[in-house]
Amino acid sequence: MGAPLQAIRGMSDLLPAEALAWQQVESVLRGVLGTYGYREMRVPLIERTELFQRSIGEVTDIVEKEMYTFDDRNGLSLTLRPEATAGIVRAAIENGMLRNQRHRLWSTGPMFRYEKPQKGRYRQFHQFDIEALGFPGPDIDAELIVMTARAWRTLGLQHLELQVNSIGMPEGRARYREALTGYFRGHLAVLDEDSLRRLERNPMRILDSKNPAMQAVVAAAPVITEYLDAGSAAHFERVQALLGDAGVVFRVNPRLVRGLDYYNRTVFEWVTDQLGTQGAVCAGGRYDGLVEQLGGSATPAIGCAIGMERLVELHRVCGGTVPAPAADVYVVAVGEGATAAALRLAEQLRDARPGLAVEMNCGGGGFKAQLRRADASGAAVALIIGEDEVAAGTVGVKPLRTDAAQVNVAGGGVLAAVAPFLPTG
Ligand code: ATP
Ligand code: MG
Repeated sequence: MGAPLQAIRGMSDLLPAEALAWQQVESVLRGVLGTYGYREMRVPLIERTELFQRSIGEVTDIVEKEMYTFDDRNGLSLTLRPEATAGIVRAAIENGMLRNQRHRLWSTGPMFRYEKPQKGRYRQFHQFDIEALGFPGPDIDAELIVMTARAWRTLGLQHLELQVNSIGMPEGRARYREALTGYFRGHLAVLDEDSLRRLERNPMRILDSKNPAMQAVVAAAPVITEYLDAGSAAHFERVQALLGDAGVVFRVNPRLVRGLDYYNRTVFEWVTDQLGTQGAVCAGGRYDGLVEQLGGSATPAIGCAIGMERLVELHRVCGGTVPAPAADVYVVAVGEGATAAALRLAEQLRDARPGLAVEMNCGGGGFKAQLRRADASGAAVALIIGEDEVAAGTVGVKPLRTDAAQVNVAGGGVLAAVAPFLPTG
């Protein structure tokens, strides 16, 4: 026997009560997205490393230092997915989904990034990923954002601020990058090691820096807004107008550039001040060039990813309650013969009323112990079968949440006797 093993740093277990809270939040998201025509898609957790290098970009936090990369037994370099968009786009191309078609898709599951674990930042975390492929926008841009706003409303979330920006097209960004490089060269003394490295290859990433010592210099840097092409500017105007028309409050943040290379035009984040320093709950943007970059035919697209750990936590902070799971009936069985009769009864009840939560006392115990478990199960009624009931072909029906007396009924009458005590009547 060795010492008990521990989970890997930055990777959490979701215990049943937490899993329930997650299920509830996920089911709201599924429901809302379904009503907008979004359909689920599932892709592998592991892809070729090259996929992420080619999509996310070489000079990004993710590809430079956060990927879980390993060789398989054949020497092929694989990576645990750090985000979902690349895999979904790969799959859409591979399955011929993008030949003059449009798809509204969502996917959810674990992502892996080798980051410094802290509250709201983990090494295995979960995203709810939303992608709209084949839509040039700006209508879909606005709809996507309006839809997320509806999801927050349905979940009862508050304290979320929507920030939007446009980062234009690659040509404008190239000019902006030059301006930015020039500016930061004038402030070399303030730049940290990461930023110095990015200065020549990807200066926009410097704007993402969370280093407090650099915030003043970052805040005074040129903004991308002045480098937008006319098409992108018009697109951005339209997105803002549609959001305003839909009553979605937003703030234009000209310094929002996002940490992945594949974005263009619309980018946005939903940010909260309720979760400490890791306040971005949902982030996304348009990525019109990515499909082509990964070998598909040019397809406009936009998407976003919701950080589930942060969303579930915000839901909790905002008072979102999760009902404790409760059995409807608990079957108490004492004695050898009673066990078979009790299992039969439980199955009959499940057949007669699908959805009825019937918890069977497995593992024996006397009447008193079993009734204690019945009480703890949250059940409205205990059904009691002992040797006497087996002999008589009856079942004891004992209401657990009212003063009503226990009655004994014939096996066939159980459901009728139980019904008045169930929450749904
Ligand atoms: P940051 O700049 O904070 O690292 P990011 O740009 O890397 O964020 P995205 O790749 O846009 O984050 O991911 C979308 C969302 O997924 C984030 O807004 C956040 O809610 C969540 N997220 C990202 N990384 C993590 C993580 N390591 N742990 C928990 N949630 C995360
Ligand atoms: Mg990150």
